[in-house]
Amino acid sequence: MSESPRRLSAMDRLVERLCRLPGIGRRSAQRIVYHLLQSDPQEATELAEAIRAFRVNLRACSQCGNVTESDPCPLCDDPRRDHATLLVVEQPGDITALETTGQYRGLYHVLMGRLSPLDGVGPGDLNIDALLQRIDQGRIKEVILGTHPTSEGDGTALYLVQQLTRTGVKVTRLARGLPTGATLDIVSKAVLGDAIQGRQAMR
Ligand SMILES: [Zn+2]
Repeated sequence: MSESPRRLSAMDRLVERLCRLPGIGRRSAQRIVYHLLQSDPQEATELAEAIRAFRVNLRACSQCGNVTESDPCPLCDDPRRDHATLLVVEQPGDITALETTGQYRGLYHVLMGRLSPLDGVGPGDLNIDALLQRIDQGRIKEVILGTHPTSEGDGTALYLVQQLTRTGVKVTRLARGLPTGATLDIVSKAVLGDAIQGRQAMR
């Protein structure tokens, strides 16, 4: 069915764009558009510039997948960190939370999500191939699974254990002192620190 592309007004086009963002429905998009219409034109210009600068300057680190302005990111590039230990997390925000504990000196690997069959998120949608390639380089001795203590986080950890078996590296999981269902960015620094120290072998 070929439909000639609809000519949208500038306003409809903006609403349409905003609707593509996660968590923003048509109503919210319209509210944002009306807000921008009523506010100083400078506000819209600054918003557009902030989005542009964010996208141009930030990228995924080619090694760990963390969001960074330089590649490799400052963590991967830091010779004082333990390059033989990898902590696998779901999202960049988890790194921020883990770093505040000061209890971990190794490197990270960001999956950019978790396995979620119901939402159609499979292994190919996550940063798993890059993880296996990193391990195949031979420098990594321990992989700590830091996916969230939710059913999807646990499922992702189990999948990774299966994938990592052939590599021969030691695989551990953050200790279960973490409250079930919690995400790493909301648990306290002390609990998270204990979870790192008390990590348990997965195989
Ligand atoms: Zn990195």
